[in-house]
Amino acid sequence: MNHAPIHIGIVGAGPSGCYVADALGRKLSGARIDMFDRLPTPFGLVRGGVAPDHQGTKNIARQFERTLGKEGVRFLGNVAVGRDISYEELKAAYDVLVITIGALDDRRLGIPGEELDAVYGSGQFVAWYNGIPADREFEPRLDGKSVAIIGNGNVALDIARLLAKTADELAASDLCARARSAFAAARIEDIWLIGRRGPADASFTTAELGEFGDLSRAATRVDAAQLPTELPAELGEEQRKLAERNLEVLRGYAQRGAQDDRPLRVHFVFNARPLAIHGDGRARELLLERTRVEHGRAVASGERFAIAADTVISAIGYRSTAFPGLPFDAARGVVANDQGRVEPGVYTAGWCKRGPQGVIPANRADSLAVAELILADIAGGASGEKPGRALVDSLLAGRGVRPVDFAGWQKINAAEVAAAQGRPREKLVRLDDLLAAARS
Ligand SMILES: Cc1cc2nc3c(=O)[nH]c(=O)nc-3n(C[C@H](O)[C@H](O)[C@H](O)COP(=O)(O)OP(=O)(O)OC[C@H]3O[C@@H](n4cnc5c(N)ncnc54)[C@H](O)[C@@H]3O)c2cc1C
Repeated sequence: MNHAPIHIGIVGAGPSGCYVADALGRKLSGARIDMFDRLPTPFGLVRGGVAPDHQGTKNIARQFERTLGKEGVRFLGNVAVGRDISYEELKAAYDVLVITIGALDDRRLGIPGEELDAVYGSGQFVAWYNGIPADREFEPRLDGKSVAIIGNGNVALDIARLLAKTADELAASDLCARARSAFAAARIEDIWLIGRRGPADASFTTAELGEFGDLSRAATRVDAAQLPTELPAELGEEQRKLAERNLEVLRGYAQRGAQDDRPLRVHFVFNARPLAIHGDGRARELLLERTRVEHGRAVASGERFAIAADTVISAIGYRSTAFPGLPFDAARGVVANDQGRVEPGVYTAGWCKRGPQGVIPANRADSLAVAELILADIAGGASGEKPGRALVDSLLAGRGVRPVDFAGWQKINAAEVAAAQGRPREKLVRLDDLLAAARS
């Protein structure tokens, strides 16, 4: 008896989508898997988030590339669900639909002055330096002496490190040309990393924190009085180990102290809550309030102080961007789901399922678990009933939407690598240029 192939649609070709595609492709022979992405390029935050000077981390893209190139798998880049095709249409087309759209919207600080010029969310800033094409031209202002970065995670460290590095230190990165010029023209003297809670609560990984000790033109500044001698009893074992390692690095930075007179200073400021951004049309000063941590929460002390901040970048987390019809948990900013199940035939994995936490390998475990769930749900019913590609292709063609396919992405990749001049690649950053390369 002939079975019709099962049709699987995956929205988002980042790590989570690729891991799901790989797992389902291995178990369901003959499956037709379509992977949509709003960008003409695949790999989500591996290309658009992971720091350009951490090329080793980006190597995982080679594995995802193999997944996209497998028989039965199609890449449909430059197709935004919610704009070019609707969620309802995808549900009608695919036997199984998996939403892996990540979390791309910046959480807001919610303080006065956030609307001033030279105040940015890290999502926007990181996408800019990683060469992600934007709907509107974005050129951040880095024309002052002082930059404040709010947040105590690795994203804040990435931004501070890239701003602190010299052109030579960035030579082996794939930082895009527009950011290289802007960084080279900047005359930043002070970078402030601001955390609401204490150093033991920071979610820095120790290796990334330690990189600040090796930068050629940047000195670190840590107030030894801010470093606890004892860790809170309620810390779990993993967090305790991380906090101990991080504190050791921070103590080293505190000891170097003011005698380190290099021209750029990276200040680690803990227990400080942003209250307002002041300025004359653009940011000039960040007003902060001292906090103390009680039972894991930052409690305000009433003591206020200000730092100069000509640019303010918030790195306090992200929310997913829902498209019409998608069940959404607005409070948490994630796709509404129960262990990955959204509604019959629809599943979710990755950052849009769990929230914006966890490194790339964490998505693998999550995606494999969701793939197992899907396999259990369709047990015995692995033949397709829905029209799959035939419906999607006719809808897109009728709207004049031309997806960038896997071969198109390979042409973009080849064009970027060919222009590299000693770098890993020279990224194409304008949508028109990306589409022209894909269709060349
Ligand atoms: C700044 C930054 C630095 C990081 N650095 C590291 C690091 O060094 N090491 C590490 O292991 N992890 C790092 N991470 C974490 C890592 O990037 C995430 O764990 C991972 O990318 C999450 O994968 P995902 O597939 O769930 O989401 P994403 O990677 O965000 O992929 C989601 C995909 O969905 C697409 N999409 C969104 N909406 C639509 C739509 N409507 N239609 C079609 N497509 C859509 C997006 O274009 C994107 O390609 C970093 C994260 C950030 C933000």
